[in-house]
Amino acid sequence: MQSQSTLRNASAREASHLLARTRRDFLRDTAKLAIGTTLLRPKWIHATTRPKRKVIVITFGGGARDQETFMIEGQENIPHLMSELIPQSSFFTQVVNRGILGHYVATASLATGVYETFNNFAAVAPQSPTVFEYFRKDLKRPSSDAWVVAPSNGFNRIGESTHRSYGPGFGARVILPKRLLNAATSGASHDYQHLLRDNYETPYYTPELAGSEFELQQLEEILKLSVNDFKSHAQTLSSPDELSVYVARQLMRHVAPSLLWITMHDIDIAHAGAYSLYIEGIRRTDRLCSDLWKAIQSEPEYAGNTTMFILPDFGRDSDDDAGGNGFQHHRTGDTLSRTTWMLAAGPGIREGVVYDRAVDSTDLVPTLGSLLGFSASVSAGKPIAEIV
Ligand SMILES: [Zn+2]
Repeated sequence: MQSQSTLRNASAREASHLLARTRRDFLRDTAKLAIGTTLLRPKWIHATTRPKRKVIVITFGGGARDQETFMIEGQENIPHLMSELIPQSSFFTQVVNRGILGHYVATASLATGVYETFNNFAAVAPQSPTVFEYFRKDLKRPSSDAWVVAPSNGFNRIGESTHRSYGPGFGARVILPKRLLNAATSGASHDYQHLLRDNYETPYYTPELAGSEFELQQLEEILKLSVNDFKSHAQTLSSPDELSVYVARQLMRHVAPSLLWITMHDIDIAHAGAYSLYIEGIRRTDRLCSDLWKAIQSEPEYAGNTTMFILPDFGRDSDDDAGGNGFQHHRTGDTLSRTTWMLAAGPGIREGVVYDRAVDSTDLVPTLGSLLGFSASVSAGKPIAEIV
């Protein structure tokens, strides 16, 4: 890892590059190990025909520093990424986010391929078309084919923009697991408080959304879960992201959407200042990513035709002033909080390759467009040539 002062004295661009090179060096060692121990590597196979092709995007949400992830001392927190997922992936060490570092607006920007500028704490829709709208309109897909599983009520508008050429009628269906749980427990949810916390930054922003009947209908008709089964299973889960992954797996089994977007958020508990909970969040997210990858391999609708992307919405900053404690926030907008990473895995994607050239957060949507066959015409990004 470059020292903080080296990074501070470099230009933003140089600092991003230094960080990426350091990540590459840590990963190159691991990738070598993985290649040495992997006896049977699948041959390069030609891309699955588009009508069957599926994409799952997972945001490694909330932001983690390299100290707790890719650096030597952090790698023990991401064993599944390091020894299982990265060796099967193309890994990009320098994904630069030039937008606003708030979780909803940043995730919406990932989903539109444009840096959205709306207030992060407002219940508004993105202004530029989302990936779900491009996908559904261009490919004439039904609403059941694009879904978002989102961590907080504040994300309820992420599926559909206000763009006049897209917008109403073309968006994704958004499922908010906490709302399902609230509806299932009819508000008497004291046994589930650990699953219901809505965000970790502003305790005063907890938008309440009406419509519990619709939620209960989603549970029974779409997820094929009785209210009682859902409640009793939820009781076995330890965090909101566990609940999201549980719901996502039901969706995969019973609806099998071709485009599924899952946003994780547990890591953001770092704002509370408890280092152990932040580390627990990273370890859990690492495990849940692996669980989803295994679900892809075991669900017949997904096995062999699904590309998975994992990327953070953004990082956390170095924040080494006296008022901060390093890992806690993402308020300075420094290079560390803006230089994230991405992995892509699935048929036709090269395995065990690390790229450290700079790509932009907005490149995801055009890349998905090239994979799935739609045009992300309003996006500011470019397809990532190493993937498509
Ligand atoms: Zn945060």
